[in-house]
Amino acid sequence: LEFIKQAPKIELHAHLNGCVRKETLQQFALEKNLQLDFSCFDRKDNDGQFHVFGIISQTIKTLPDFRRITREMLEDFKHQNVIYLEIRTTPKECENGCFTMEEYVNTILEVIKDHNQQKDQTMQVRLLLSIDRGRSQEHAQKVMNLILKMHKEQPYIVGLDLSGNPEKNSFQDFIKYFQQCKSLNIKTTLHAAVIDGQKVIDETLEMIEFQPDRVGHFNFFNKQLHDRIIEKKIPIELCPTSNFFTKGLKDMSEHHFKDFFYQGHLVSLSTDDTGVFDTDSTQEHQKIIRAFNLNKEQFKQLLINSSKMVFDAQLKEYLQQNINQYFETQQG
Ligand code: 5GP
Repeated sequence: LEFIKQAPKIELHAHLNGCVRKETLQQFALEKNLQLDFSCFDRKDNDGQFHVFGIISQTIKTLPDFRRITREMLEDFKHQNVIYLEIRTTPKECENGCFTMEEYVNTILEVIKDHNQQKDQTMQVRLLLSIDRGRSQEHAQKVMNLILKMHKEQPYIVGLDLSGNPEKNSFQDFIKYFQQCKSLNIKTTLHAAVIDGQKVIDETLEMIEFQPDRVGHFNFFNKQLHDRIIEKKIPIELCPTSNFFTKGLKDMSEHHFKDFFYQGHLVSLSTDDTGVFDTDSTQEHQKIIRAFNLNKEQFKQLLINSSKMVFDAQLKEYLQQNINQYFETQQG
């Protein structure tokens, strides 16, 4: 375990509000005098997850709250020896106008900037904005306007994500925003095939044809989807614990890691929501390494492959040097 913990890891799929520490959430609830039922944290299925997100959004409310959870999230990932972290978040605004979406994003960016610019910083952090597919077009358009406005002067904003409740709306409702990003060279990633069903299969085919830079999860697929995503070379952000619960697996050895990694298709391992799933980057790697009995060479390959998937391309070489160096010194 120590070897996995010390290894320089890459985290590409972590939702800010889903990574809140449970103690911090409970403290916020106490301070705000909220009587909340935290028992849904024990249910990790889809329904339980979205209950938890309901609690999170009622509890984490103010800009100082968001600043604190961002700071703690960076501490937690750094503690796991993550050397590159992409945080994603759905821009929020206060209903009665006390803060705007832009102020929300700026609050998070300030924490990221302070962190990245520290001398001898070993973990670099980047930010993706998420469009929540469960929300309105008006909301999506606002997120889009923000990314258009901010991405040029804010190099730490590196992409746009589509997430949220997969039962709501469809990719086609939001495709225009992703096309616009593509035309401007802003990277894109889509939560794809999160749940089962024919509608999802059709939608996932459309997503693959759109060719985002990456997809997240890719839990449910048939042969056609499997072959097509490999053909199109679209890397997959896997989140083992989250996927395990969503798919209702009995054992991690059933995880679809096996359907891609051994074929040389790019995949990375991420946490999704450290708070919701009570996990961290070390555990996510450990679960897959154990389930598939990966050797050191395969673990290294997995990390190198993850480094090829990062949205800030300038850092790839630096990340790969770090990974190579770790395995050279450890094997020596
Ligand atoms: P936020 O964007 O508020 O910082 O992070 C929490 C949000 O991320 C949730 O409300 C949800 O929209 C999204 N999210 C977190 N985990 C998942 C997941 O496993 N699947 C999907 N589809 N969305 C998720």
